Amino acid sequence: MDRSSGFNTKLLHGKASSDFGQGQILPPISQVTAFSYESMEDLEKVFEHKKMGYAYSRIGNPTVAAFEQKIASLEGGAGAIACASGMSAIASAFLCICEQGDEIIAGAGLYGGTIDLLHDLEKLGIHTHFVQQLNAESVRAHVNDRTKLIFGEMISNPSLNVLNVPEVSEAAHEAGVPLFVDSTTATPFIVRPLEPGADVVIHSTSKYINGGGNSIGGIIIDGARFTWDFDRFKALEEFKRYGKMAFSVRLRTDLWENLGGCMSPMNAYLSYIGADTLGIRMERICENADALAHALSEIDGIKVNYLTLPDHPCHEYVDTLLGGYGGGILNFRAGSKERAFKIIDSLKHAKIASNVGDIRTLVIHPASTLYIRSGHEEMEAAGVYYDTVRVSVGIEDKEDLISDFKDAISAASEETT
Ligand code: PLP
Repeated sequence: MDRSSGFNTKLLHGKASSDFGQGQILPPISQVTAFSYESMEDLEKVFEHKKMGYAYSRIGNPTVAAFEQKIASLEGGAGAIACASGMSAIASAFLCICEQGDEIIAGAGLYGGTIDLLHDLEKLGIHTHFVQQLNAESVRAHVNDRTKLIFGEMISNPSLNVLNVPEVSEAAHEAGVPLFVDSTTATPFIVRPLEPGADVVIHSTSKYINGGGNSIGGIIIDGARFTWDFDRFKALEEFKRYGKMAFSVRLRTDLWENLGGCMSPMNAYLSYIGADTLGIRMERICENADALAHALSEIDGIKVNYLTLPDHPCHEYVDTLLGGYGGGILNFRAGSKERAFKIIDSLKHAKIASNVGDIRTLVIHPASTLYIRSGHEEMEAAGVYYDTVRVSVGIEDKEDLISDFKDAISAASEETT
């Protein structure tokens, strides 16, 4: 990271944010499928990596590359690969190093789609140990020769557990295994997990990085600091000569390319311009979430889960790992599913939608939507109960948000009494 400038300055004027030719301050949208060359010889050189250039947008595209460089630079990574969605990024990253018979250790309170994916991988012979708390102890208890990666969410969605990256990465590295972190809800504004020890960072860029709720996307950032043991990581053996870059090189030139989960140029452009305002959006979102959480926690019968509340089990990490911020998601328990629905339906400003990280405040009842395919135990591990309301706080005026939620809660109380 360039230490001489602050987050927002680097975001707008850093190395990855300039030089698009002809003085263009934004990357042009290269909305093309293929790139043509003067001679067949030239195209051959591009395929042989002997000449810089693009051939086909599933394999590489300049607008997508601009977005990849911007996010790699924000996270302090050696490189990044943009994908069609967050799920495509997570699946590609896992499949790049896991083969039949391999194992993953993951925290239990993950995003529901990721839990479903890990269940799908069981059918390919890749087994996941879901641990209640992802910490040094649980890593040491489950790690063995077949373990290929440890996976956790930086701030889990929606359970709001914080991953103690220094501790977990130390235990993972001791066992010769890399730590992969989904940092979607934390964003590089709050924390850059490669700095405290993670090896690979993944985002669903559909959320805070894009911010405007206008395109699905994902990205994988490689810190390229992990020393791969190629006798153990057989999937990377063929890429041995790239040393610490073996994961990235296999991903880009082999697995990601062949799975076909590339990001579209238009989505890369929208996410690029969205990311320009990440710093100021996150500051405002975290301020609003903190104010709303405190206001709601004073209401009788409403139990709020938010990281900056003093009784939160991960409260200590707000200062030690999260730079004083609690993120943009809060949950509260309404007392019953019926009351939760009534509160949600009574809100005037917050929109009922299945997403987080938008500039607009969004609400949902996770048990009847995101966790509809999950069992009771999985739901509880994710901090989801039948009366839980998840709020993804936006950038509206906080006074309006607080009164909207207070009014909705009173309206629901009147109706249910
Ligand atoms: N990771 C987290 C933490 C998420 O919240 C989500 C989506 O909600 C995903 C991954 C999946 O991202 P996408 O919807 O872009 O595939």
